[in-house]
Amino acid sequence: MQWENIRKDPKIIENYQLLNETGLLEHIESMRIENVGLNNLLNEAFEISRQESVEELVNFVIKCLSDKFIPSSLIFVLNQGIMVNRIKILAYKNLKAIESNLKVDTLDPYEKFFRKYTGTTSFMIFEHEIGNQDLVTPFEDFNPEIIVPVIGRTGLYGIILFGPKVLGPEYTADEISYLDKLIKFTSIGIQNNIHYEHSVREPKTGLYNHNFFIRRLDEEIARAKRAGNSFSIIMLDIDNFKQFNDNYGHMAGDEIILRLAATIRYVMREEDIISRFGGEEFTVLLPEAEGENAWAAAERLRKEVEEMTVDYGRQSLHITISLGIATFDGGNTENFDLIEQADAALYISKSKGRNQTSASASNG
Ligand code: GH3
Ligand code: MG
Ligand code: MG
Repeated sequence: MQWENIRKDPKIIENYQLLNETGLLEHIESMRIENVGLNNLLNEAFEISRQESVEELVNFVIKCLSDKFIPSSLIFVLNQGIMVNRIKILAYKNLKAIESNLKVDTLDPYEKFFRKYTGTTSFMIFEHEIGNQDLVTPFEDFNPEIIVPVIGRTGLYGIILFGPKVLGPEYTADEISYLDKLIKFTSIGIQNNIHYEHSVREPKTGLYNHNFFIRRLDEEIARAKRAGNSFSIIMLDIDNFKQFNDNYGHMAGDEIILRLAATIRYVMREEDIISRFGGEEFTVLLPEAEGENAWAAAERLRKEVEEMTVDYGRQSLHITISLGIATFDGGNTENFDLIEQADAALYISKSKGRNQTSASASNG
């Protein structure tokens, strides 16, 4: 029977005084409120699991918090997951995003503390027990009151800091308990995100992997066919890289791969899909780019790489790349045709003497 109906039962009303004095009614009311809270939390947990990026997830968490209270400062220090030592900092003042010059290079030194304090912890305890002032100082500007770890199966993924509430007294036990649960679900969400990133990216450069590229290429072909527009892919390969490794060593070669990946990222547009296709071979998918645009992008990249200087030890290293372009032109091209065309164009660039761009003959 519904509580609402039970409450109106004459027998209850008759004994209201007694029930009230024993605290039973109050107890039932608090259970009812807790139940509503848990229901809301379940819905929030479901929404958290559906967010497609860490940024979206954080935005959603902020929305959840804003329904409860407003922390004067809120800092997310999150491991990006895919590349070592890529820490993302998201800072908020009164739940509005702000620029922050907080710098945290690695979460490793914090692991030990959070293995002991796995939930919501007072910043004072953190300050007292972490045992190294250098680990505390970066956060002090934000006047944190609470610190919460984002913990996953393989360790610490992040730290979240809450400043005092804008209104009202200290955080209540209920609020802390809510935070604790919300952040646990957030941790799972962040972990999911990291695992997804691992499945689509190549760990060394953080670029997309071969499989993901092929999948996106299939999608792009389907999309271009429906929309009747074109797009291009660029395939590129480091020139004489075997010789480079022989001359300067494999470690120097690795450094080159990293810098090349960064340069491709820098030259290409946000929407371009860049992948490490193989060892020293990269592909770029340029949505909606016709042959001419792809050519311009390829040449910009080729020149940028030609001018790139990589300081390694006492040496200044240089490389060049060769590029091949294939453009989807609305025909019945399947992904392997396009990749083969780009590869053939790349081969032409190589055979003509390297450090140049060629477009597939079928580009017209
Ligand atoms: P070409 O101009 O025809 O492409 O000549 P190449 O020497 O670059 O071509 P080849 O395919 O013979 O050699 C590719 C070399 O790239 C061999 C391989 O050791 C090196 N390589 C591939 N991946 C990596 C990597 O991650 N790090 C390093 N250091 N070398 C790599
Ligand atoms: Mg090569
Ligand atoms: Mg190669």
